[in-house]
Amino acid sequence: MFDHPSYDHHEGVHFFEDETSGFKAIIAIHSTALGPAAGGCRMWNYETGEQALRDALRLSQGMSFKNAMAGLPLGGGKAVIWGNSKTDKSPALFEAFGRAIESLNGDYYTAEDVGIDTSDMAIVATQTSYVAGLDTGAAASGDPSPVTATGVYRGIKACCERAFGNGDLSGRTIAVQGVGSVGGYLCDHLAKEGAKLLIADIDQDELNAVAGRTGAEIVAPEAIYDAEADVFSPNALGAILNPGTLDRLKAKVVAGGANNQLATPEMGEALRHKGILYAPDYVINGGGIINVAAEISGEYSRDWVMSKLDVMIDTLGQVLDEALSADEPTYLVSERIARSRIAAAPSR
Ligand code: NAD
Repeated sequence: MFDHPSYDHHEGVHFFEDETSGFKAIIAIHSTALGPAAGGCRMWNYETGEQALRDALRLSQGMSFKNAMAGLPLGGGKAVIWGNSKTDKSPALFEAFGRAIESLNGDYYTAEDVGIDTSDMAIVATQTSYVAGLDTGAAASGDPSPVTATGVYRGIKACCERAFGNGDLSGRTIAVQGVGSVGGYLCDHLAKEGAKLLIADIDQDELNAVAGRTGAEIVAPEAIYDAEADVFSPNALGAILNPGTLDRLKAKVVAGGANNQLATPEMGEALRHKGILYAPDYVINGGGIINVAAEISGEYSRDWVMSKLDVMIDTLGQVLDEALSADEPTYLVSERIARSRIAAAPSR
């Protein structure tokens, strides 16, 4: 573990299994310096346990940076459940997950991520109180993805302001990869402002639904990298900015909600070299965790969430401006700020 390429001084990496329900999961806690670790739960049918571990390590580190950049009193953690979210879910599996979280005594709060919805979280909540993104309860915040999408939409405008001298999206062509929860709500915002949308997904139903209500043009999943677009917005899975895709991008801006978009840090430098402005994923997609943080605080307030979203967009602007004026890659500037915020936290 200590030699793993994605290990970054994580405070704890916990492995869980419940044979009866088929539950297998990793909960990685990267840092609790700023507060209890918080980050969603992903359910994915990994080919190997090594892939699940890598995802848990990278995603939990990303949550530390995300929470620090959003100015939240939360550290970074993430859970990955190894299984097929379409066929392997059961109440017993999510009860086992709830017990696993409870055993960590409040060091980790969970919520929804890819493959998980609010009905799953409701089962988790029967076993532990360290869960957010619920539909019911005094401070329930529900599905975080609409707030994530609002943040991504505003972040795209902030990027366009810098890249094109104008944040108005009417008439801009935007290629959206993944039109699930975040990508779908994002397309609604973009279409409302008059952007021309090219969308790709591997789920035909999602594609038809989004194209039907926004007038978007459907593009084959692999072709989205070659799309003639001003903005490329990844909203599916990670590592899509890699040596096989980078040279195909025509956009001047890459800004989307997906986590871990850069396959390696060098890709961030390669984007800068190509003159593409990249919005660091964990800065632009912090809206969902802001919504979750309101619930964790015990008192949900929409005004508080929106004011935090304003701060998040200001922070993104600072990262972009600092990177552009120093001719540095944006990922490096944001990581430096995030790490310094974590290092400056008073000991808890
Ligand atoms: P989701 O499962 O609702 O949507 C993901 C979509 O991507 C699905 O429609 C899926 O079919 C599609 N997809 C998968 N592989 C694809 C491929 N190869 N090409 C094109 N499309 C593909 O998940 P979501 O909640 O919308 O999350 C999307 C991304 O945003 C994830 O990386 C997630 O970690 C990140 N994120 C989500 C939130 C949130 O609030 N939900 C917050 C922050 C970050």
